[in-house]
Amino acid sequence: MRWRTNLWLVEVCFLALMASTSAMAEPDRTRPNIIVILADDIGYGDLSCHGATKVKTPNLDKLAGQGMRYVDAHCAAAVCTPTRYSLLTGQYAWRHPPARGILSGVAPLAIPTDRMTVPKLLKQADYATGVVGKWHLGLGDVKPDFNTEIKPGPREVGFDYSFIIPATGDRTPCVYMENGRVVNLDPKDPIQVSYGAKVGDEPTGRENPKLLFNQKPSNGHDATIVNGISRIGFMSGGKAARWKDEDMADDLTKQAVNFVEKHKEKPFFLYFATHDVHVPRFPHPRFRGKSEHGLRGDAIVELDWSVGEVMAVLDKHKLTENTLVIFTSDNGGVMNDGYFDGSGTDKSGHQCNGVLRGFKGSAYEGGTRIPFIVRWPGQTPAGKTSNTLVSSVDLLATFAAITRKKLPDEAGPDSFDILPALLAERPEKPCRETLTMQGNPLAVRQGKWKLIPPVTPMKGKTLPAELYDLEADLPEANNLADKQPEKVTELTNLLEELRKSGRSRPAAK
Ligand code: CA
Repeated sequence: MRWRTNLWLVEVCFLALMASTSAMAEPDRTRPNIIVILADDIGYGDLSCHGATKVKTPNLDKLAGQGMRYVDAHCAAAVCTPTRYSLLTGQYAWRHPPARGILSGVAPLAIPTDRMTVPKLLKQADYATGVVGKWHLGLGDVKPDFNTEIKPGPREVGFDYSFIIPATGDRTPCVYMENGRVVNLDPKDPIQVSYGAKVGDEPTGRENPKLLFNQKPSNGHDATIVNGISRIGFMSGGKAARWKDEDMADDLTKQAVNFVEKHKEKPFFLYFATHDVHVPRFPHPRFRGKSEHGLRGDAIVELDWSVGEVMAVLDKHKLTENTLVIFTSDNGGVMNDGYFDGSGTDKSGHQCNGVLRGFKGSAYEGGTRIPFIVRWPGQTPAGKTSNTLVSSVDLLATFAAITRKKLPDEAGPDSFDILPALLAERPEKPCRETLTMQGNPLAVRQGKWKLIPPVTPMKGKTLPAELYDLEADLPEANNLADKQPEKVTELTNLLEELRKSGRSRPAAK
């Protein structure tokens, strides 16, 4: 009988070996690396996988082919700061006045340091956390002094590492900051920044338009000239620290890739907020003329390159299989946005928001419906599209679900777990029933219905309520408010309830 026992032992050992091999090969679904790539001002029609023909985005198309495109996905707001706040905190920014509007380059930090954020949550799950790119959420307690270490900032809201543009590419100061300090700052050439009176004696676009070698301002954007482009806000000093606009995508992408390389041994979370394709659109010469949509299209090609570099470093270190990559945008597309760069008169036929009505800043779909691509090999089906309503405000609750962390009631009050949508489970059931979209005014969704409440513009008379059936009328061409007054009342009451309750995600019982 002994040989039988031995055979049995061999069999058991073989099965155990097979089980351990398969466990080793199976990525840990509860602790994938997570990369969120937040593009700037990329609209619903800007990528070739979303139907663009005048600009090609092969890397993003590949990402979409290996993952899912969510075609009813929304940023929380139609402009930068409130979307970024909502993405990181899971709270609609309109609930938190400091993050409601577009911040200047000297605004204090708009995220309370005691609020739960995506990076704080992931640190609890032992992730290394980093932000690279555009911040635009304020820095410091009061007006920041760019000659010192500025706190609180990204570190105080959960990022171990930060390499950021403090505000935006078109706002001063035109310098990068790494872990709270300006990069390459010469202490003998201190930086001054002002959004009120002029500081220093450097030329401005307003006073010295002949010094603008490119991109004359079309609206504002006429303060201090840096690299031949005038900006919003004044600055002086910090000459050695100033970025070169054409190198910005290279500079930021290099930092994003470095972060991945440095943290490849343990779970990491990278929030890569690109400058492309925000103004000033100033792509590197190697991308110029690479689209049929002028500088804006060339900046999209540059963005696609950046995404490709991140995908390549994941492949290089065999991290692709265990990395969840989400690509999305902070608001819808816009053509003329402060500089005469040719986009406003573009005749290529490119529709930055596809069939959608409205642009960046708008309460129409063109303001907040954006590309949302998810690649998570072995988890998210490849090459599919999803109609499930999702928003970047949902990332906090979703990452909590992935890492099996319980989200306290006060955290992410507007963040819903969309993991079932990422896994394409229960496709018939929505992950969220309602959604608000902060344009002008605040719009609300319930299922296929969307209400844009009456609004009084800065000039002119009050515009009446608009009601759309987005299933039948995605371009929002047919206002049904007069035909369906009871639906207008229902959604008006819903919006009021969402405002009053302070949350939309139900509290735990
Ligand atoms: Ca933006």
